[in-house]
Amino acid sequence: MDRQAKIYVAGHRGMVGGALVRRLRDEGYDNLVTRSSRELDLRDQAATRAFFEHERPEYVFLAAAKVGGILANSTYPAQFLYDNLMIGTNVIHAAYETGVRKLLNLGSSCIYPRLAPQPLQEDALLTGPLEVTNRAYAVAKIAAIELCDHYRAQYGCDFVSLMPTNLYGPGDNFDLTSSHVLPALLRKMVDAKERGAVSVDVWGSGRPMREFLHVDDLADACLFAMRHVSEAGPINVGTGVDLSIGELAALIADVVGFEGALVFDASKPDGTPRKLLDVGRLAALGWRAKIELRDGVQRTLHWYLNHREERLART
Ligand code: GDP
Repeated sequence: MDRQAKIYVAGHRGMVGGALVRRLRDEGYDNLVTRSSRELDLRDQAATRAFFEHERPEYVFLAAAKVGGILANSTYPAQFLYDNLMIGTNVIHAAYETGVRKLLNLGSSCIYPRLAPQPLQEDALLTGPLEVTNRAYAVAKIAAIELCDHYRAQYGCDFVSLMPTNLYGPGDNFDLTSSHVLPALLRKMVDAKERGAVSVDVWGSGRPMREFLHVDDLADACLFAMRHVSEAGPINVGTGVDLSIGELAALIADVVGFEGALVFDASKPDGTPRKLLDVGRLAALGWRAKIELRDGVQRTLHWYLNHREERLART
C-alpha cells in the first residue's frame, strides 16, 4: 500500500473508522476517500455501486456497521441484521466488481458460538448456537466473513476478515441506552463522582468475562493486516487477556476516583458468559496489542472529559 494509494475508509465517523483515518493520516496516507452515512447510504446497492465506480478506491477498510451494546442489540435485532447484511454485501460485492486490490472486513468476537471453548479459536466459527442477545448482529457479520472467503476462493479477491474483541477508546459511544459496558461505566462513574452519588449501577451479575482492546491497537492491527496478511478469515484481534465485569467496574472506579458502591442490577442481562479470543494466529503472523487496559481507560477518560467540555462549549 503506497502512500499515494486511494483508500476508502467506510464508517470514518465511527470509533473504528475514526481511529483508522487518524492513523493513516499520521503515516502520510493523504489520498483517503470518506463519505458520511448521510452522503452515502451503504444499505443502498445502486448508490454503493455508483460510488465505487466513481471513486475507484484501491484499498478498502470496511468499518461501517450498525453497532451497539447488549441492550441495543436485543431491542433492535431486525435493524442490526438488515443494516449490517446490506452494508457488508453491498461493499464487498462493489469492491469485487470494481477491482479493489485489497479489502479489510471488520467483524466481531460475537460471531463465535456462545459456549465455544475459551479462548475462542477461529475454527470455532459455525460449530454451535450463538448468544441470543446479539445473534442478529453476529449472523450479519458471519455472512460478511463468508462473502470475503468465498470471493477469495472463487474470484481470487484479496479480502481479509479481522475479528476484534470488545473495543473502546476515543470516539466511543457514551449514550447509556446504546453503548457498550466500558464507556457506559466510565460515564456513570464520572457523573456519580461529580454529583456525589453513593453508588453506581452495574448491569447483570458482574461475573461475565470480557476482553477489551483499545481502538488505536485495532487500527494498528488493521494496517498490519492490510500490509502483511492475505489469508481467508476470520482472524482474531485482541489482547489475549480478560477480566470480569465486576473487576472492570472496580478498575474504572479507581481510574475515575469514584469511591462509592457498585450495585449489580440482576434485572439486566449478562449475555455471553465469557468472550476471550485466542490471538495466536495474528501473533504468529507478527502482531500483538500494546496498550494496557488501565492506560487505555485513562486515555479514554481524558478523551471523554475533553469531548464533553468541547460539546458544552459549543452549545
Ligand atoms: P456484550 O459484550 O455484547 O455483552 O456487550 P456489552 O458491552 O453491552 O455488555 C458486556 C457486559 O457488561 C454484559 O454482561 C452487560 O450486562 C454488562 N454491563 C454492566 N453494566 C453495563 C452498562 O452500564 N452498559 C452495558 N452496555 N453493559 C453493562
